Amino acid sequence: MNYRHIYHAGNFADVFKHIIVTRIVDYLKRKPQAFRVIDTHAGSGLYDLEREEAQKTGEWRHGVARFFNQPFDEKNRSLLAPWLETLQHFNPDGALRSYPGSPMLVRHLLRKQDRLTAIELHETDYETLRQMFAGDYQARILHLDGWLALGAHVPPKEKRGLVLVDPPFEENGEFERLVSGLEKAVRRFAGGVYALWYAIKDYQAVERFVRQLRASGITRILRLELRVRAPSPTPRLDGSGMIIINPPYTLAQEMAALAPVLLQQLGEDKGANLVNDWIRSEEKTL
Ligand code: SAM
Repeated sequence: MNYRHIYHAGNFADVFKHIIVTRIVDYLKRKPQAFRVIDTHAGSGLYDLEREEAQKTGEWRHGVARFFNQPFDEKNRSLLAPWLETLQHFNPDGALRSYPGSPMLVRHLLRKQDRLTAIELHETDYETLRQMFAGDYQARILHLDGWLALGAHVPPKEKRGLVLVDPPFEENGEFERLVSGLEKAVRRFAGGVYALWYAIKDYQAVERFVRQLRASGITRILRLELRVRAPSPTPRLDGSGMIIINPPYTLAQEMAALAPVLLQQLGEDKGANLVNDWIRSEEKTL
């Protein structure tokens, strides 16, 4: 457990992931019924971009800094609104210093009836999260292995919601764990929306992952990938992807509408592109 998200908070991959999460949460809020977001690898919640670790890599300068306080046209502004407004809430004086991670972002967007379960295995990050949400009856913070939660914590009692699986991708076998964890969870909670993050670094592993998903019994699988540059000659994080199971019917279209602004703000060379396609689209369940 060497991974520390503070080095990467607010980078291009966070921006892409968090925009997608806010579009899904926004859709879930269209109905009055309560929902729950289960964040299996939650991190520490709120990141201080002035801290040495964040300054050292400066990754956020190539990510969130390209969106904060930028003028966007009306269409982009409205699709980005839940995320941009959350950023403004945590940076009220107009200077970008704090970056809200997934549990903080989601919590900020919940209505009174909605709930968050945030799971974190790292002792220090868990403790930070626990203190951050102390006394918040809408948030449940757990010190657990997030992979186990895919069996034990679904379906949520609300029977509606999003399961976000955002592992660090620093250990072998994480693609395989994503597929097996997902299969297990979908069997228990077939109607849930699932969002799985993955790194685009080992291109063959990504292709294998997509083949495994296609061969699984799971359907309604949307792939969204943001590649910020042409493939690097030596392995490097060239992009990141999100696999969405049961996406809101609006999501593929919204991400297509956002593609130009995402590529313009985050793309680093002519090889940058956004993949937005269905791995499986049939309405069949496991
Ligand atoms: N979801 C966060 C966000 O979007 O702001 C970022 C999470 S970061 C990429 C991955 C987190 O997973 C790290 O905080 C790490 O400590 C934690 N982690 C690693 N292995 C875990 C496990 N088996 N169960 C739960 N958390 C784990």
